[in-house]
Amino acid sequence: MRKPIIVGNWKMNKTNTEAIDFVKGIEEVLHDGADFGIAPAYVALKDANKNAKNLIVAAQNVHFEDSGAFTGEVSVEMLKDLGIKWAIVGHSERRAMFNETDETVNLKIKQLVENDMYAIACCGETLEQFEADQTETVVRKQVTGMLEGLDSAAVKNLVIAYEPIWAIGTGKSATKETAQSTCAIVRDQVKVLYDQPTADAVRVQYGGSVKPDNIKEYMAQPDIDGALIGGASLKVDSFTEIINAVK
Ligand code: 13P
Repeated sequence: MRKPIIVGNWKMNKTNTEAIDFVKGIEEVLHDGADFGIAPAYVALKDANKNAKNLIVAAQNVHFEDSGAFTGEVSVEMLKDLGIKWAIVGHSERRAMFNETDETVNLKIKQLVENDMYAIACCGETLEQFEADQTETVVRKQVTGMLEGLDSAAVKNLVIAYEPIWAIGTGKSATKETAQSTCAIVRDQVKVLYDQPTADAVRVQYGGSVKPDNIKEYMAQPDIDGALIGGASLKVDSFTEIINAVK
């Protein structure tokens, strides 16, 4: 049985002070029905994590090198020193605006795994690719590239987030059928690359305009194990509604 995992990706929102208030408010409503997390900006990680008990606090990115001349970047050691064990890698915004590729995402996952940390690795097609019926090809290629050289044990611990770019921040969420079928493709590609037990273990999230009123229909799908949520994770009220909906 895969435990569901719901994570709020805050992107470039919320100060450190706001993050502390949010964590205090949300801790009270967590339950054992799923793993819950937030990914604040780097500057809020330390205090958010200090105030978190059961909430996962994840970074939104990490560098793949140990240390060195990489101005503006943050290493796994820096995250570990704050008690952070999770990082999102390969978000489509980082791919589009900060030159992330399947190759760099792969290096980041390896760096996290080697340091006993956990990755939420993102994939997903553009609107143009979706309309040209290329979703399956694109997603299989992304998953293959991101997982290159990783062993089955590492992949079993991985969370893969399928986020169609056309559904992110647009209010145009994928239908439950589309989300299910592409998450099933993600899982099938893990089976192609590894085996059935590995595919059965990996957790696959859907992301893209997930809200309190549609979370339940996604969670009812057999290959959707959770959600990566942007806008609706920013308010304690709406994130609480989502948390309560997956009880
Ligand atoms: P929205 O939920 O705001 O569409 O964002 C999704 C996302 O990009 C989460 O990583």
